Amino acid sequence: MADEQIRTIGGCHMCKRTFSFVPAQVMTVMMDPETRLPLGMTVSGAFREPTPEATARAVEAYVCPDCVDKVKQLKEFMDRPAPPFGTWQRGNP
Ligand SMILES: [Zn+2]
Repeated sequence: MADEQIRTIGGCHMCKRTFSFVPAQVMTVMMDPETRLPLGMTVSGAFREPTPEATARAVEAYVCPDCVDKVKQLKEFMDRPAPPFGTWQRGNP
């Protein structure tokens, strides 16, 4: 028998794509089933400290590698100290 890690098929919570993964290595996020958004994320996309009620009802959901990359990019964007609005120009130069 080959010493391979057992892969499982599951659905990505974010893009609904079916993908195979090693359960011990897959990225999961805590989802609030009531808002169907990641725990702590508001409908507007901003992060907020999750309420104890939301934390209690949160469920673990699988995320495919593609969406993990997207989340990382989003986090990097939001971690920036100031949005790059200073370079905006208006009207005629
Ligand atoms: Zn996905």
